[in-house]
Amino acid sequence: MIKSGFVSVVGRPNVGKSTLVNTIVGSKVSIVSFKPQTTRDVIRGIYNDEDCQIVFTDTPGIHKSEDSLGEIMNSNASNAIRDVDVVLMLVDVSKESNASDKYVIERIKNVGCPIILVMNKIDTKSKLELIPIVTHYASLGVFADIIPISALKETNLQELIKLIKSYLPEGPRYYPVTMVSDHPKTFSIAETVREKIFLNLSEEIPYSIGVYTEEINETEDKLKARIIVLVSRDSQKGIIIGDKGLMLKKIVKQAKEDLTKQVKKQVVLDVYVRVQKNWRNS
Ligand code: GDP
Ligand code: MG
Repeated sequence: MIKSGFVSVVGRPNVGKSTLVNTIVGSKVSIVSFKPQTTRDVIRGIYNDEDCQIVFTDTPGIHKSEDSLGEIMNSNASNAIRDVDVVLMLVDVSKESNASDKYVIERIKNVGCPIILVMNKIDTKSKLELIPIVTHYASLGVFADIIPISALKETNLQELIKLIKSYLPEGPRYYPVTMVSDHPKTFSIAETVREKIFLNLSEEIPYSIGVYTEEINETEDKLKARIIVLVSRDSQKGIIIGDKGLMLKKIVKQAKEDLTKQVKKQVVLDVYVRVQKNWRNS
């Protein structure tokens, strides 16, 4: 058994969430999306090594701008976050902690899974200057651990991964290792197909599905891609394919129309629906 799990990355804008995940995941782009029952989480990236898989997610609603505060307060963001194994809360040590940070902490503090405080951008401060910041966050009694890093300079990232691993349960690889690709379009192609599935079937497909681009072939005038839709049950496969394959045809047609506009060339999509038993059920 390896260790695996879902890690939600939260923090106010510009603290370095994207930089951190992109650096950990490498130059590779996450190409999957899934839809839990409560709200739609976005996968930021997937980290794989021999004995671990970390799925970094972005939980909508946790770190929106303050003007949508009211909306978030009664949203189900806290339900969504309950679905994850670890929360990483990022702060930017080059800036004073402010109301936004406090707000994020309020939102996550009762989440029921370990919260790791990640002090980012330590390259902008001396070690001495970091001490009162550590003391401040430690005194809140919210965090299971505190770690200083620099996502940009790649300082302490291996230690961060180790720390995350120490809080992850044993589990399967939720996503095949091949679900990461370095072609920039793989993500948007998979996203477009996923969008069309939920556009047509948001009521019927209440469980997690995974959509990813398995293969992509692009020439000057043509974009060809093979998309895999992963579901956990035969019945879901049947729904997506539809009577005489008509639903899948419709989904592919809509996705092709969108993608043709995006890439301005001929688009050929082969979409396969696969049932994978250990697929994450929400
Ligand atoms: P997000 O809004 O939380 O996703 O933040 P981004 O990842 O987009 O980063 C916001 C800005 O902070 C970018 O200009 C990054 O280059 C910068 N940044 C991220 N990490 C670090 C760091 O460790 N040190 C410094 N100095 N800048 C960083
Ligand atoms: Mg970002």
